[in-house]
Amino acid sequence: MSEQQCQPGILEVVVGPMFSGKSEELIRRLKRARIAKQRVACFKPDIDLRYHRTHIASHSEQTHEAAVVTPNSERLREALFADGRVHESEVIGVDEVQFFDAGLIDLTMELVAMGKRVIMAGLDTTYANEPFGPVPNLMALADKVTKLNAVCMVCGQPAIHTQRLSKSTELVLVGAAGMYEARCRVHFSPFIEPPAEQMELSEVVSSAQ
Ligand code: ADP
Ligand code: MG
Repeated sequence: MSEQQCQPGILEVVVGPMFSGKSEELIRRLKRARIAKQRVACFKPDIDLRYHRTHIASHSEQTHEAAVVTPNSERLREALFADGRVHESEVIGVDEVQFFDAGLIDLTMELVAMGKRVIMAGLDTTYANEPFGPVPNLMALADKVTKLNAVCMVCGQPAIHTQRLSKSTELVLVGAAGMYEARCRVHFSPFIEPPAEQMELSEVVSSAQ
């Protein structure tokens, strides 16, 4: 029997808004795998390096060693396969997977087919409440999806949304402090500007009244 038949891989996906504990949960699972003497490889995109260059970190200051990669699935593939690291790892964790391209989906399933336990953590929706990058596909293909809630900063109810506090419409706006907060459905506003044609139409309607 081949190794692949003996040891099926598994894809675990951890999603939720900012502050919901995704990094905390990823760190917890990786630490437990290490307690079980499994070999772990962890990666994070090089989008926000102001806090930790060699670790993933949670807002509650828990950390786990991680290699930093450009959020591009080919760069991640190189980081895994170039020095044979993939063969030495039984568990592969990636944080902030929403920043990767669609190629991450095939790479993930390739790792799972090799018998790896793959844990992907990331935002499921953008600040505009759109599905974020490869995350919805990873959720669909996963063995296990953990959708975490944060606490709404307005009312204290469970929060599934990430509210952007700044007016910028750039998809990736780095720097959590004061720029984003967790919100429930009632207190979340996606903050989308209406398209120009629609604005013109509403201006016409209001001037005609
Ligand atoms: P994520 O990776 O999902 O952004 P983290 O794992 O980095 O989340 O941080 C989770 C921690 O953030 C919580 O355990 C808590 O200490 C802290 N925290 C700060 N604001 C909130 C909030 N609004 N809701 C829940 N936890 C929060
Ligand atoms: Mg995080």
